[in-house]
Amino acid sequence: MRPIVIAANWKMNTTPADAGDLARTIASRTRVAGVTRVICPPYVSLATVRDALVGEDVAVGAQNVHHEPAGAYTGEVSTAMLAGLATWVILGHSERRAYFGETDALIGKKLDRAVAAGLRPILCVGEVLADREAGREIAVVDAQLRGALDGRDAAALAAAGIVIAYEPVWAIGTGRTASAADAAAMADAIRASLVALGWGSVAEATPVLYGGSVTAANVGDILGQPSVDGALIGGASLKPDEMAAIAASAGITAAARGLAS
Ligand code: PEP
Repeated sequence: MRPIVIAANWKMNTTPADAGDLARTIASRTRVAGVTRVICPPYVSLATVRDALVGEDVAVGAQNVHHEPAGAYTGEVSTAMLAGLATWVILGHSERRAYFGETDALIGKKLDRAVAAGLRPILCVGEVLADREAGREIAVVDAQLRGALDGRDAAALAAAGIVIAYEPVWAIGTGRTASAADAAAMADAIRASLVALGWGSVAEATPVLYGGSVTAANVGDILGQPSVDGALIGGASLKPDEMAAIAASAGITAAARGLAS
């Protein structure tokens, strides 16, 4: 049975002075049976958020990690530095790809490093608008998955609890959302890509989230799709009211799938 995951990506928002309160508020308002919750604050707030969440069943994630274990990489953060601070990590977010030149090959190396460190990866994939308008969104996402995953050990990635997040770039931070049907179709296509990569039954067991302007208003339709297992939430994840409603919706999905007991 795949888990239902709601993961908050705070991006470059909040400071250590306010992150703890926000995390505590979100945690207290999103306690819903059967839903796995993750908060990914900026690096500098990881310790604050970890401490704020003591006693809550909410995981802490990093938004990125470097692919090398240590060395002359000014400004970067290694998996060893995340030990004790984060148990999840977002990899290959479209903002990392677009603004920092991250390639599928590099993201694959980060996956290796994350898995070796026992971090649970959320691997982000998704097409730009021109790709969707040209009808090549499935081919683009398939190429991203191949580029990051080909040759890697599916069993090891499954054991690490890998989650794939489908995040169409044109929907991130824009207020535009993929239709629930399009999100579901891509989740199916992602699992087909994993099967083609030799993942076998691991493909069906891999959670696929949707991300891209998820709000309380649209999450119900998206999570009503049997192939979609949760959401990666950016802007709305900074708003406790939104997160409370998103979690409630995720709880309905969890109950419907028999995960809530
Ligand atoms: C994201 O950052 O992963 C994201 C989906 O952002 P937003 O919800 O703001 O579109």
